Amino acid sequence: MRNEQSEPSVRTDVETENLDVLSSTQNVILEALQKLGYDEQMYQLLKDPLRVLMVRFPVRMDDGSVRVYTGYRAQHNNAVGPTKGGIRLHPNVDEDEIKALSIWMSVKCGIANLPYGGGKGGIVCDPREMSFAEIERLSRAYVRAISQIVGPTKDIPAPDVFSNSQNMAWMLDEYSHLRQFDSPGFITGKPLVLGGSKGRESSTARGVAICIEQAAAVKKLDLAGSKVIVQGFGNAGSYLAKFMFDSGAKVVGISDAYGALYDEKGLDIDDLLERRDSFGTVTKLFKNTISNKQLLESECDILVPAAVENQITQENAARIKASIIVEAANGPTTTAATKILHDKGVLLVPDVLGNSGGVIVSYFEWVQNNQGLYWTEDEVNRKLAEILKRSFKTVYATANRFKVDMRLAAYIVGVRHMAEAARWRGWV
Ligand code: NAD
Repeated sequence: MRNEQSEPSVRTDVETENLDVLSSTQNVILEALQKLGYDEQMYQLLKDPLRVLMVRFPVRMDDGSVRVYTGYRAQHNNAVGPTKGGIRLHPNVDEDEIKALSIWMSVKCGIANLPYGGGKGGIVCDPREMSFAEIERLSRAYVRAISQIVGPTKDIPAPDVFSNSQNMAWMLDEYSHLRQFDSPGFITGKPLVLGGSKGRESSTARGVAICIEQAAAVKKLDLAGSKVIVQGFGNAGSYLAKFMFDSGAKVVGISDAYGALYDEKGLDIDDLLERRDSFGTVTKLFKNTISNKQLLESECDILVPAAVENQITQENAARIKASIIVEAANGPTTTAATKILHDKGVLLVPDVLGNSGGVIVSYFEWVQNNQGLYWTEDEVNRKLAEILKRSFKTVYATANRFKVDMRLAAYIVGVRHMAEAARWRGWV
């Protein structure tokens, strides 16, 4: 981590390849602020969250024993409005990762011009090894532990890795008991019957599909018949594969954690969707699989990493065939790989823009909760498309104006939003 006293300087691409996620995020924030002409003080304000709460709480297990879990909630910056971001349930959750993810959320909200700053939460646990009842007690205990700093006008959580609408329902219920009133706007990603929004489930993939359309228009690529590879077949990847398949593109490759399928004639996505399990696994049913590594380097026009981080690095970037990459996953491409791809003319739409459909429809859910009036799925999808098309155009124009890649351009747009709000408030 950076020393508060020393003068910060942007690190080179080769240096950033091995940086941890927080340091490399801070590096891009610094670069974006320098391009905008902000000084060191603004960087000091935005380089870390304003508030990070670490909590430890006991949970009774089914066998009668008690385990003490550790959780975090980071609130990056509330100059624009309440903070917003998911709660991740994963054994690898750590404080620096949660801090970095809260900064990414601020940038995402800034690009989409949402009235939010970024937040993120996490619990160090492995829900795959817990019973339904244990996960319920864990979810409720976490909300009790962080309840003082969250709320519909303070900080609004949502699902993230390994958390879903059921966790959100338990958390909402616990918060309603604590606060003695029903507060559907406390959390988003809820089941429809508890105030969830139509279109939320497929919103991330829909946003990715809109970015693909915009990128294809820039590259003058006809989507009909174009070849698409999607890495990951979970929530984001499978809906995206289906949207692309239905739009007439040829989905030639998909993958999951166990391997990948590739067919240059195009895969039958409806059939694969029928056969995949609830964790997004389908390749185990096939013999003729290839590795994820081979898939990324296979022939295609459009590549969508929709699985995990650090998939495209300086090791494989030069061998990627796609002319368009849209990041559905968070952090799938390293900084050094971004530079290699940019230099060879690949149009890379970064995660903070590419997967922002999820937080945009979460915002719609909160708006609907606040007004008590619910929209049709068509209304949700139309408003989502409006925001994403505008966001893409702004980021693309910024990339051209500053002569930088789309990732730095996205940070310039997102950071400017927060920095301006902080300046108006007289913070810096
Ligand atoms: P998910 O758990 O539903 O699916 C993940 C998929 O990736 C599964 O098919 C899994 O088998 C596969 N996978 C896991 N490890 C892999 C590996 N090492 N190599 C290849 N494939 C692997 O998750 P999701 O909700 O679809 O999220 C995927 C990515 O998109 C994550 O980075 C997440 O942060 C990001 N994202 C998701 C949303 C959303 O609304 N779902 C929103 C924003 C960002």
